[in-house]
Amino acid sequence: MATQRMLQFVTKSKQMPSKRAADERREDFAEIYREFAAEKAEEQASRCSQCGVPYCQTHCPLHNNIPDWLMLTATGRLREAYELSQATNTFPEICGRICPQDRLCEGNCVIEQSGHGTVTIGAVEKYITDTAWENGWVQPGKPMVERDQSVAIIGAGPGGLAAADNLRRAGVQVTVYDRYDRAGGLLTYGIPGFKLEKPVVMRRIEQLEAAGVQFVLNCTVGQDISFDAIRGKHDAVLIATGVYKSRDLEGPGAELGGIVKALDYLTASNRKSFGDEVPNFDSGLLNAEGKRVVVIGGGDTAMDCVRTAVRQGATSVKLLYRRDRDNMPGSQREVQNAEEEGVDFVWLTAPAGFEGEDSASGVVVQKMRLGTPDASGRRSPELIEGADYLEPADLVIKALGFEPEALPTLWGVPELTVTRWGTIRCDHATHATSLPGVYAVGDIVRGASLVVWAIRDGREAAESILSYLAQPASVAAE
Ligand code: FAD
Ligand code: SF4
Ligand code: SF4
Repeated sequence: MATQRMLQFVTKSKQMPSKRAADERREDFAEIYREFAAEKAEEQASRCSQCGVPYCQTHCPLHNNIPDWLMLTATGRLREAYELSQATNTFPEICGRICPQDRLCEGNCVIEQSGHGTVTIGAVEKYITDTAWENGWVQPGKPMVERDQSVAIIGAGPGGLAAADNLRRAGVQVTVYDRYDRAGGLLTYGIPGFKLEKPVVMRRIEQLEAAGVQFVLNCTVGQDISFDAIRGKHDAVLIATGVYKSRDLEGPGAELGGIVKALDYLTASNRKSFGDEVPNFDSGLLNAEGKRVVVIGGGDTAMDCVRTAVRQGATSVKLLYRRDRDNMPGSQREVQNAEEEGVDFVWLTAPAGFEGEDSASGVVVQKMRLGTPDASGRRSPELIEGADYLEPADLVIKALGFEPEALPTLWGVPELTVTRWGTIRCDHATHATSLPGVYAVGDIVRGASLVVWAIRDGREAAESILSYLAQPASVAAE
């Protein structure tokens, strides 16, 4: 057994797992970080100072027991590290790959604050559970005792799946409905393989199936089956449908061909990675190969689009964002990765319109500067008059964020209360909506958010649903 002592941050420097060279990364959709070797994972875990009040844990939405699983990793007790890690996180290896750690656990590590470089928490979390998979320690969560109560989950993204896992372990009969042909939500069709390889998601779905979770795919609730029919068939319902209505662009030429939605573009690319037939990709509509690509937006979705375009063989890839680097919502780590891969970030720019005959041939770009801070402290962009220019483009990708679909209208349930932003209104502790026995989690409640928050919501909602199911029927029906 290894004997790494803790508190090694003074003598051992921070190291991430090695990254593949940018030239190599540009050629495929494989993840860019290699796995830690065992000794390196132990060494990096040993840098933790075992804080009495671990801010990393406080700022992890799942409150993962980080110091303890770091200590167990450093001392070679990996199986125990895995057991501890999976006790609070349904998909630790997924969070280890795609959480914006610089804003969550690692950004609040005291070692980072003291200038020694954060403990590489995410990479160690990924290493622990990848090792558990290799060793066969990750087993389907089959229940000891079956219950006859059933729960419908609408939406097979991380929020829905986290709830499905906890409910199934408790013996509940779980049916997950999803409009796509594969489960996983944005883990499957939104986030590209270079951040999250698809077999990592698919093996989790297979485990849920092996545990007895039923998936009803290619089934759009509100279209193929009504919401009321689902309520009638099950004892409780969880809504975990995410947010999919893309914010749009206005201005002259906004309706031209060659201007596409980010999620259509990313879904087509992910489907190609699965080997699916994608006519809109094969026709060139959603394929960046040989094109000058302009992506508009500054969040994670925009970042995923530019890096996908590089891999598809675009001749140039530019990202227009109306603020500057320090004021963009996307992860700085991802900006650096994109720059290494050849993406050109054009800060302080916004589209004013598009030129072209049938299809866009260029974006009219306005230059911006940052003005005084607004109420939130963020500096608002202001237009620089007379500084417009034309940016040539063969493919323009709109990545301006997402809003919720109007579920009460689409599903014919006006009693389902929503907020003024259209997200489902629910109790933040229990996740109960305005309808008895109906709960909601993830992006459809929070607005576009993060995988780790959806997992937390799903786990919490499963607990609330179990309490609801435990009530006498007369109380539950009230
Ligand atoms: P989703 O993952 O959106 O899943 C919802 C599911 O519901 C979908 O499968 C959908 O098909 C289904 N559905 C919707 N309506 C219906 C209906 N009427 N009937 C049946 N099924 C329905 N987060 C991170 O933490 N890290 C990242 O790196 C990151 N990158 C991202 C990149 C992109 C391109 C995008 C778009 C998002 C990214 N996110 C990232 C955000 C993250 O993916 C979401 O916050 C998370 O997936 C939300 O989970 P969810 O379960 O609420 O919804
Ligand atoms: Fe950090 Fe995310 Fe893991 Fe929490 S789940 S420890 S925030 S990487
Ligand atoms: Fe370890 Fe950093 Fe967490 Fe402290 S804050 S327990 S040093 S990982």
